[in-house]
Amino acid sequence: MPELPEVETIRRYLNRTVLEQTITGISGSAPTIDQEHLPLLAGSVIRTTARHGKYLFVDLDPGSSLVFHFGMTGDLLLVAGDDPDPPYTRAVVSFADGSRLAFTDSRRFGRLGWVPDREAFVGERRLGPDALTVSRERFRSLVEGSHQRVKMFLLDQHRIAGIGNIYADEVLFQAGIRPLSSLHDIDSPRLSLLAAAIPHVLRTAVDLAADFDYYPDTWIIPRRSPDERCPCCGDPVSRVMVAGRYAYFCPFCQE
Ligand SMILES: [Zn+2]
Repeated sequence: MPELPEVETIRRYLNRTVLEQTITGISGSAPTIDQEHLPLLAGSVIRTTARHGKYLFVDLDPGSSLVFHFGMTGDLLLVAGDDPDPPYTRAVVSFADGSRLAFTDSRRFGRLGWVPDREAFVGERRLGPDALTVSRERFRSLVEGSHQRVKMFLLDQHRIAGIGNIYADEVLFQAGIRPLSSLHDIDSPRLSLLAAAIPHVLRTAVDLAADFDYYPDTWIIPRRSPDERCPCCGDPVSRVMVAGRYAYFCPFCQE
């Protein structure tokens, strides 16, 4: 499932491929594409991109934005004029030079829509601060007084936007905190470790273009499997169900 590092990697890909392109049309079918609210955008030019949490915005001139959410399997790929659409293409943005941006999504949970104002969109969705930019002070204020289980807190996009199941496991592993710990029971030094682990893990993943093959051997992400062992102590990793999905952790290294 695309989390912040994957979406940021797609954003950087768009910056290399589609800036200053003129849109000639957008096609696709519901539910992937929000046709009812998608105006005629032919003639609009792509100026910039932006991201908040797992949402990717493509800013247009005249001013408005396309907004993408990638669900479980969404991705974007630029295809040349005569090339066929890639497999699982759900929507296509066509450009004046004949190339097309294909929105592929085998599981169909991804969405493409249009918003007049992306900051208003973030506010209406009540998204928390973007996980890559949240300061330690802001993190402290977000957790203050909360009795929530720490993994549920990390997954809650209204608290911090961008972290999903996989990166939450890594952040907790690096901070030495078990996924079902209550925020209320985590001492101050560990909360500081957690606040530092969030940007560290996400920045490292972004720098590695969200390619799991290059993630450090010291990370638990490559070991998220029942028969794997902790990269730190060598004990078997454990898993526990949180929010309907497995959280992986090391019972020895995480308190
Ligand atoms: Zn361990």
